[in-house]
Amino acid sequence: MDLVLFGPPGAGKGTQAERLVEKLDVPQISTGDLMRAERKSGSDLGKKFDEYMSAGKLVPDELVLELMKKRLSQSDAQKGAIFDGFPRTQPQAEALDALLSEMGRKIAKVVVIEVPVEDIVERITGRRVDPKTGQTYHVRYNPPPSGVEVEQRKDDTEEVVRTRFEGYKKKTEPVLPYYEKKGLVARVDGVGSLDEVTKRIETALGL
Ligand code: ADP
Ligand code: ADP
Repeated sequence: MDLVLFGPPGAGKGTQAERLVEKLDVPQISTGDLMRAERKSGSDLGKKFDEYMSAGKLVPDELVLELMKKRLSQSDAQKGAIFDGFPRTQPQAEALDALLSEMGRKIAKVVVIEVPVEDIVERITGRRVDPKTGQTYHVRYNPPPSGVEVEQRKDDTEEVVRTRFEGYKKKTEPVLPYYEKKGLVARVDGVGSLDEVTKRIETALGL
């Protein structure tokens, strides 16, 4: 099954994708995570990603698509995937359809996790990540267990999140009519506990 998790930064896409991985038995593919891994490797490509990511700007489509092509060619991604934070632009959406079509696949559903902007800033500034496992926590809503050392992403500041949110409104949200025309969109209320949101997504997917 190929599933897209859509929504503003901090909506809970990554958190919910992790939970769906076990249930659907397909990998989570997060372009943000792939870019952070590349950045950590210190490669030239990673440095390029960093310029955009630090400023909260979208990385150019060609670079994102190169990354995605490589990821989709890996063995664990042959039966389906949960796309988290991708596609984020119209060209990315069309390229994803073309890539999947070459593999005889197509998107089953686009789940939009809806969260108002007031909550987004609080979620993003409270987000913490365990650098060892990549597990995401929130200082208030999903605190890390004691003994787990967490970090804050450097783009998780109020200022940068506002730029990211503007980018979402301007370039990402306008992709939704493309999926709506195909009848693929399911909107889910993202306000509530982590478990409540998981249940709503499962209901939307008929799981
Ligand atoms: P969040 O879901 O919290 O917004 P991500 O980890 O998905 O964060 O993305 C972090 C940053 O990585 C984005 O602000 C952007 O610079 C870059 N990025 C991630 N995915 C994409 C994408 N599909 N297209 C363009 N840029 C991306
Ligand atoms: P995204 O991948 O959409 O950027 P994340 O899954 O990383 O979002 O979630 C952003 C932050 O909000 C994290 O700190 C996460 O723990 C927290 N979070 C996720 N879902 C909820 C929820 N339903 N209620 C409160 N906080 C949440």
